[in-house]
Amino acid sequence: MTDRGCETVNSGTFIDLKAIRKKLDLSQAELATLIGVSERTVQSCEQGWRNPGQAVEKAAILLLVAKWHGAEMEKHRCWESIGCTDEERSNCLVFQSHQGHVCWLLSGNQCRGRDLKTWVDKKEACFDCPFFLELLPDGVPILTPDA
Ligand code: SF4
Repeated sequence: MTDRGCETVNSGTFIDLKAIRKKLDLSQAELATLIGVSERTVQSCEQGWRNPGQAVEKAAILLLVAKWHGAEMEKHRCWESIGCTDEERSNCLVFQSHQGHVCWLLSGNQCRGRDLKTWVDKKEACFDCPFFLELLPDGVPILTPDA
């Protein structure tokens, strides 16, 4: 990833940044400011010249989830939704730190028998997870068509 928050197109992305930004009702400049990248970075990602880097992907999804759930976020607990056993909870850093609403963002958890250590692991495991999908507003095409 470059320091501008983009990766080369070949690195792949699962998110539709433009769709997320529109759902957030933000201009490109506003989104760029909020997540700490240049407006040109957002433009490049939306035009498909580059893919969003993982920092941009995480920040965009977090803004989306936070806008929809705000102060209510903490009541969303992945371990309850997924039905993790006591043993699974005892091995999971997300459970121990009470961060079930952002399990999809954090590293160090074991979910459904898998160690999810990297953002690529997360995207593969989480983006079709019922718990993650329930955090998103209806009708946001978060997945890119070819993902
Ligand atoms: S698959 Fe991902 S989103 Fe679903 S509960 Fe596990 S860490 Fe959370």
